[in-house]
Amino acid sequence: MTKQYIDLHVHTNASDGILSPAEVVQAAREKKLKAIAITDHDTTDGFVEALGHVGDSDLELIPGVELSCTFSGNDVHVLGYLIDYKNPEFIKTIKKFREERLNRGKAMVAKLNDLGINLSIDTVTEIAGNAAMGRPHIADALVREEFVQTYDEAFARYLGYHAPAYIPKKHLEVEHAINILHLIGGLAVLAHPGTLDHDEYIPLFVDMGLDGLEAYHSLHDRKRIEHYKNMCKKYNLVCTGGSDCHGPRKGKMLMGSMRVPYECLENMKKRVENR
Ligand code: AMP
Ligand code: FE
Ligand code: FE
Ligand code: ZN
Repeated sequence: MTKQYIDLHVHTNASDGILSPAEVVQAAREKKLKAIAITDHDTTDGFVEALGHVGDSDLELIPGVELSCTFSGNDVHVLGYLIDYKNPEFIKTIKKFREERLNRGKAMVAKLNDLGINLSIDTVTEIAGNAAMGRPHIADALVREEFVQTYDEAFARYLGYHAPAYIPKKHLEVEHAINILHLIGGLAVLAHPGTLDHDEYIPLFVDMGLDGLEAYHSLHDRKRIEHYKNMCKKYNLVCTGGSDCHGPRKGKMLMGSMRVPYECLENMKKRVENR
């Protein structure tokens, strides 16, 4: 049998991706992926909608979520996998995170207005629709209203970490995020550890109950992938991976590009079972 591949980090337009859940499922089928995890920021609406589009295909859909935390002043993204996405407390919690995202979006638009950029929050909410609002929606709005030429320019000039309209999200402890994910039966995985670039945090997160590292990621080169696979062995963590595909925003469609082996998912399921 030919080797089977998966992608455990995919966004839909329920957060800041540009493909609808149906389009994500279609793309995964075209790429002959065996499984994908939909890991939208602070919502599982995209996953639930995608379930309705799998039909009779043998594509496996894994429930996931991506939570934004801070640790020592750094942005840390924690991925949840194999979660009970129907848990009412969890649904309430992420709804609150989405409300905070909307408030932050409004505050960022106010900052842009102070900078003389006459963008209206209505343009942003129209682009975001029912999605969990994020900076990509504001960037798209800035492009649409011709305040910038490109999406990247929007981040470089206004929305990036050190840019003048940037506002951090409300503080969420890594340990709290891990606990939330464990309470709903899921695994907590450190997203793109290479972009965090603070490996010294990893043993601390392991003590908090971290289950895995996202070794394969489109921003990790071959060396980094090997490095994090080795760290998984060292700390007895599951090794996961995905493209972090947000759809073809810049022409490129990353889905499936990381060639993550199906064994990663099998090991994740074993870890859940053996808990
Ligand atoms: P937010 O969750 O609102 O802080 O937005 C974070 C999202 O913005 C990330 O998941 C990326 O999709 C996107 N993003 C962050 N920084 C950049 C950047 N410098 N250039 C392009 N996209 C970015
Ligand atoms: Fe994103
Ligand atoms: Fe992330
Ligand atoms: Zn992501």
